[in-house]
Amino acid sequence: MIVVGAGVAGLAAARALVDAGRSVIVLEATAQVGGRVRTDRSLGVPFDLGASWIHGTDGNPVADLAAAAGAPAVELDFSDVTAIDEGGDRWTLDEFGQAEQAYEELMAAVVDEGDDDVSVATMIASLEPDWFEHRLQAFFTSTYLVFDTGDLDRLSSALADEGEVFGGPEVVMTDGYDRIATHLAAGLDVRLGLPVTAVGRDDERAVVTTAAGEFVASDVVVAVPLGALQANAITFSPALPAGHLDAIDGIGFNAVDKFLFVWDETFWDDTDFVVYTPTRRDVFNWFLDVNSLHPGSNALMTFAYADEARMLETLPDDEVITLAMSHLRDMYGGDVPAPVAMRRSAWASDPFTRGAYSFTSIDTSMEHFDVLATPVGRLHLAGEHTHRQYFSTVHGAYLSGRRAAEQILSNGSAP
Ligand SMILES: Cc1cc2nc3c(=O)[nH]c(=O)nc-3n(C[C@H](O)[C@H](O)[C@H](O)COP(=O)(O)OP(=O)(O)OC[C@H]3O[C@@H](n4cnc5c(N)ncnc54)[C@H](O)[C@@H]3O)c2cc1C
Repeated sequence: MIVVGAGVAGLAAARALVDAGRSVIVLEATAQVGGRVRTDRSLGVPFDLGASWIHGTDGNPVADLAAAAGAPAVELDFSDVTAIDEGGDRWTLDEFGQAEQAYEELMAAVVDEGDDDVSVATMIASLEPDWFEHRLQAFFTSTYLVFDTGDLDRLSSALADEGEVFGGPEVVMTDGYDRIATHLAAGLDVRLGLPVTAVGRDDERAVVTTAAGEFVASDVVVAVPLGALQANAITFSPALPAGHLDAIDGIGFNAVDKFLFVWDETFWDDTDFVVYTPTRRDVFNWFLDVNSLHPGSNALMTFAYADEARMLETLPDDEVITLAMSHLRDMYGGDVPAPVAMRRSAWASDPFTRGAYSFTSIDTSMEHFDVLATPVGRLHLAGEHTHRQYFSTVHGAYLSGRRAAEQILSNGSAP
């Protein structure tokens, strides 16, 4: 068997096939396993460039993997928050709670009164035209919605609450999410630095093309991101069926980036999170105090979403730092020093990812996920974008890989 892509989906498929006694080669374009589970340790504190959270530990197979890998995780307190408005005034916790409540009521109405092909932006404009003038309300729309899903002018109103997590606490991996990928990959035959350019198939076999030559197998699992499929980075012959192509085009793929800033000393409030509510939305408005995970790290992790993320990827580091400092100095005063170091992701520009995760756009139908989960002869797609219930998450990626392996094993293909 061949598996294309050594993200969690591809590794989960390979692991299950190898455990069932099959011979598997995993072909991975980049120099490391994990895909969007990637940890940068160059500043001494593990910084997850992609996934950070296990979304609910009850019954979540990723929580089991973390335990098996011996990878520690802690729960942060989302209500342990300091909220500061543009100009430096502080929001009270009552104001914070009221805006959160208003946001939840708004979204219930958006989903209830919306339609699959009408965007959330259109629904908010019709239901609450002044919504974004209240900067704290705008914050919730940005960090609770755009971050988790996608661009508001593309996000389907009726489908905005699709996608599930598990029950129990949401926990953050403290020693790096890549511990899970490394654990899954242990003992597998993973060939790094080998981008696949073509996947052919007939009744007998699948043929996978790389710069290092062709690999022939009875079945192939293609577990590359939706962004790579949308960009036609792999040529399929024969072409994918029309239903698969519609699904690839129809499901949205968003942009989210993460940023780690490190100082010599901490100057911010001692709460797990610091919220900032500038008029400019979707960038550097939610800060996670990394001291809560790693005492003494003097670091903040923050985010950019949608167009702000795509735009920041085009800027040099010094301009990104200037923007972040304008927010932090507005909150904490002009004397706040520049950080001593920064690290950041750039997922939309990554040629092997081209975005962050999938979302239900105005062109998405929930059946699109089922179509992508349906094998095409000897070709099986896996990846978070192929899981109707759990798309966009690590647990969705993992379960999609297991599903692809089960499809192959139940077909009784040759070992
Ligand atoms: C910023 C960010 C934050 C996130 N936060 C969370 C979170 O907190 N919790 C959560 O559950 N999820 C989170 N996610 C989502 C989660 O990371 C993904 O859903 C999941 O990791 C996707 O796994 P995958 O195996 O489907 O794809 P990927 O991890 O993208 O793996 C695909 C692999 O295919 C490789 N590839 C691509 N093209 C080729 C080719 N032509 N040939 C060979 N190999 C190729 C890629 O290099 C990659 O290794 C986040 C993602 C991002 C970007």
